[in-house]
Amino acid sequence: MRKCAFLDRDGTIIVDRGYLNDPDGVELLPGAAEGLLLLRELGFLLVVVTNQSGVGRGRLTRSDLAAVNRRMLELLERGGVALDGICCCVHREDQGCPCRKPGTALAREAARRLWLDLAECVVIGDKTSDVMLGRRLGCTSILVNTGIGGGDGSFEVRADLEAADLLEASRALRDRLLP
Ligand SMILES: [Mg+2]
Repeated sequence: MRKCAFLDRDGTIIVDRGYLNDPDGVELLPGAAEGLLLLRELGFLLVVVTNQSGVGRGRLTRSDLAAVNRRMLELLERGGVALDGICCCVHREDQGCPCRKPGTALAREAARRLWLDLAECVVIGDKTSDVMLGRRLGCTSILVNTGIGGGDGSFEVRADLEAADLLEASRALRDRLLP
């Protein structure tokens, strides 16, 4: 069994610009590539799980979404890090799908495909829905709050760890794993 970091995209890896449909608008957040590298060193697979209801709302197309994701991958590659997967929910909230976070369908599917031990996995994101996803999966949860966009400001569910950005989150996780 392997372990994985389930990562939010907007507000965690890249700047949250809200329904981003232009690859030129992709900007890595400070510490993102370094944080992912450290997670990799700690033995985690790296899988992005992201809600992209802008597709369901008609604010961007699936090909816009793919172009934005590709751009993020390019920028991460320059930082020396590759992801193991990107899972997107493209439904609107009112469609009641099982994959929109905090719905667990995407992460559970990844867990089946990648032979993950969910108890060893971590969810890292900037919103309550990310923390709730971690709770529901039985993973460690880490809330990042970069102060650069993102975040819903209403953290009614406490995360296991809190950090200012992905690098700090990864260091906090390392400190917990390696006493
Ligand atoms: Mg987010």
